[in-house]
Amino acid sequence: MARPTSATIHTDALRHNLAQARARAPHSRVMAVVKADGYGHGLERVARALEGADAFGVAALSDADRLRAAGLSQPIVLLSGFDEADDLPQLRRLGVETVVHHHSQLAMLEQAGEGEPIRCWLKVDTGMHRLGFAPEDVREAYARLAALPAVADGIVLMNHFAASDEFERPQTRDQQRVFAQATAGLGGARSLANSAAVLGWPDAHADWIRPGGALYGISVVEGTTGADFDLRPAMTLSTRLIAVNRVRKGERIGYAATWECPEDMNVGVAAIGYGDGYPRAAPSGTPVLVAGQAAQVIGRVSMDLMTIDLRGLPEAKVGDPVVLWGPELPVERIAEVSGTIGYELTCSITRRVRFVES
Ligand SMILES: *Cc1c(COP(=O)(O)O)cnc(C)c1O
Repeated sequence: MARPTSATIHTDALRHNLAQARARAPHSRVMAVVKADGYGHGLERVARALEGADAFGVAALSDADRLRAAGLSQPIVLLSGFDEADDLPQLRRLGVETVVHHHSQLAMLEQAGEGEPIRCWLKVDTGMHRLGFAPEDVREAYARLAALPAVADGIVLMNHFAASDEFERPQTRDQQRVFAQATAGLGGARSLANSAAVLGWPDAHADWIRPGGALYGISVVEGTTGADFDLRPAMTLSTRLIAVNRVRKGERIGYAATWECPEDMNVGVAAIGYGDGYPRAAPSGTPVLVAGQAAQVIGRVSMDLMTIDLRGLPEAKVGDPVVLWGPELPVERIAEVSGTIGYELTCSITRRVRFVES
């Protein structure tokens, strides 16, 4: 029998979430961020479901290549920008737009040979201090770009927020102010908002929003799940019980014997582990659903298997479905107890997991 571990991708949910993003930012165009294989949901599958987006955002030229090979003709933006001169002919061939965040890229564009002009998104570092031109360097970078034959008309000005998921924190306001000052008077569309800013900072919607996580139904706002923002999870991760064993009081379960049975009890073994992308950091007590009912992980998650406390579920039997996350069990809850965010969990699903669409 094939391993019963699967990730079911809910394409309706992807479309619903795109509509929600549009409804929240009715005056903005939407770049659907599909980097990291569509946050682990499958790049081509996600892009087809989201073909109503105005553009796609990727982090690798190879992803742009895949989108074009899949027949998608929307604008594509390379979010971390090109990093060598040899990327430029590829950008032109694929008709891909690029973020420009560094002087080294300006120099490469100045040396670019003849060819189709490339649309550029000029990135301003407004306080995240990852990528972008310092505010005081933006005008010069803009002028150099605008003068180049290799650069298409209509430079877009963008930034990236560091803490937009914290709705009470002043940092996002400060970053907006720095952006407005650095770009005052420069022509072109503006783009500031990632998912959390789409949800919590309507002033920052501007001309282009760039949601990623929200499209997959995942919230990064602490203590919330996508459902709190009318978003629907786009992935259900599931498997089956492959054993149900009676274990005596005082016996210990799994590697390092971390969990001791407080009484004689049934222990379920599910065919999923960190080799599938389920987090090893998920502690005893992490929720799962067995045949639709709440149960808990006990002991260490291992590579191929996990063990489940079946004390509340006397009927549970081999073959019962086990849901690790999905619409009935938010991935944000699993992420929280595992010390991470939902994005990392969906991105971590490995290739041996069977992907299906529903
Ligand atoms: C990943 C990314 C996004 C999307 O972020 P989410 O939190 O998933 O919405 C937006 N803009 C840039 C530049 C990114 O790298």
